[in-house]
Parts: sequence; C-alpha cells; structure tokens
Amino acid sequence: MENMKGKVIAITGASSGIGEAIARHLAGLGAKVCLGARRVDELEKITHEISKNGGQAIYKKVDVTQSDEVKDFVEFIVGEFKTVDVFINNAGVMPLSMINAYKINEWHTMIDVNIKGVLHGIAAALPVFEEKDSGQFINITSVGDRWVGPTSAIYSATKFAVRAISEGLRQEVSENIRVTIIAPGATESELAESISDPELKKLAVEKFRINLLPAEAIARAVAFAVTQPADVDVNELVVRPTAQKAY
Ligand code: NDP
Repeated sequence: MENMKGKVIAITGASSGIGEAIARHLAGLGAKVCLGARRVDELEKITHEISKNGGQAIYKKVDVTQSDEVKDFVEFIVGEFKTVDVFINNAGVMPLSMINAYKINEWHTMIDVNIKGVLHGIAAALPVFEEKDSGQFINITSVGDRWVGPTSAIYSATKFAVRAISEGLRQEVSENIRVTIIAPGATESELAESISDPELKKLAVEKFRINLLPAEAIARAVAFAVTQPADVDVNELVVRPTAQKAY
C-alpha cells in the first residue's frame, strides 16, 4: 500500500488483541514492524508467523512502565531498521472497579501503564522524530477518553489524560510530525482479563463486552491514519461497533 511500504512502525502491547492485529495488518501492507510487550513467548510466535507470511517483523521485550526499557526498545529498532517512522502507544490495562472498592494498586497500575507508559513512548521516540523532522505518534485511547461511567472512573481518567497529552503534543511538535489518537469501542481482546473482581468481570462481559469489533477493525483505522499524505494529520478516530450506542 502506498505510504505504508517500508515504514518502520513500533507497536507496544503487541502480544495480544489490538496491538497484535495492528502488527499483523501493517506488516501485511508492507511496513517493517517491531512488536513490544512483556510476554516474549507471544511476541516470538506472532513475529515468526508474520515473517512466515512474507512480512518484516522483529520484537523486543518491553515493560512500558520502565522509561529505560522503552528507550532501549526504540534504540533496538533504530539499530535493526535504521529509524522509527511511527510509534504506536497501544499497551494498556483496564482493571475496572468502583472507587469505594479501594483497589489502589490497580489505580496505580492503570496510571503507570496507560499514562506513564504513553509518556515513556513519547520521550523515547520524539528525539528520533525531531532529528529527522518527521514521524507519527498513534496513541490508542478508548471511547473512555470522552465517556465515564460507574467502575470506569480511573480507567477513563487515564484515557482522558492521553487525549489531553496527545492534543498538547500535536500543538507543540513541528509541522511535519503527526499525532493521532484512535479511540476504540468494545473490541475483541484480552482486556477484560485485568478486571480482578469476578462478579464485575462477568457483568462487564455480559453488559459491555458484546457486539465486539474484531481487532482487525482498529488495525484498519491505524492503516488509514498512517497512509494519508504527509501533510494530512488524522487527529482523532473513534471506532465503535455499530450496535454500541450507550457509551
Ligand atoms: P489486551 O489485553 O489484549 O492487550 C493489552 C496489551 O498491553 C498486551 O499486549 C499486554 O502485553 C500489553 N501490556 C500490558 N501491560 C504492559 C506493560 N506494563 N508493558 C508493556 N506492555 C503491556 O487488550 P487490548 O488489545 O484491548 O488493548 C490494547 C489497547 O486498546 C489498550 O490501550 C486498551 O485500553 C485499548 N482499548 C481496548 C478496547 C477493547 O474493547 N478491547 C476498547 C478501548 C480501548 P503483555 O501482558 O505481554 O505485556
């Protein structure tokens, strides 16, 4: 695909769900992808399958809560593929709970992964983009970046934050660097696994995690944003299942 072939694309949280689908889809369109996450076995398997299908893929273990590891991730990609053209901040967790359940450790984890992880990605890739005066961030938020309901306060807060950070970044960077957020609605993935309360997990699955989009649908939205001409910056895309009406 025009504007995709040969692009070097880093994807965090690529060991499952949306990140995995993005890696497979963009590699299929001719991008050179680098997959990052903590589960190396999964990364190895997905990378191997992409390569077997003729794509170019590498992987590296990265915990996005550790800024040094994210920096190493980018340095590894530059070492292998010479540069980074697109950095996709996709890693995220969603341990939903009521505030008065006081799951403070889970609040911290959401803030560490969903906000600090994105900041670490920006801090690692922006110097590469500024050096060559081009590049694109794609930050995967959620419809929760503009919607909040019971049990989603902290998760939504992290996604509101990423939306704010992305808009600030967009205004600060040079006119040749693009910043995109993609806000998925309910999408097939392992995301609900991080809900620790079994009853809440059941409720979330039965009430909210229905009519799910295939993760590939979000990957197609990413491809749309990446393949626009360099002077077109798709700032926001919200992609819901057609049947998802209430949130
Ligand atoms: P998954 O649980 O399938 O994927 C989450 C990914 O994040 C995994 O690859 C996981 O890999 C990675 N991850 C979690 N913690 C860390 C960490 N500390 N360091 C590095 N990687 C980490 O869920 P999704 O694919 O759904 O989630 C992807 C993004 O999409 C998230 O930001 C989520 O908030 C967002 N989203 C998803 C929606 C949905 O309905 N699925 C809806 C709206 C937004 P590993 O455990 O191997 O590190």
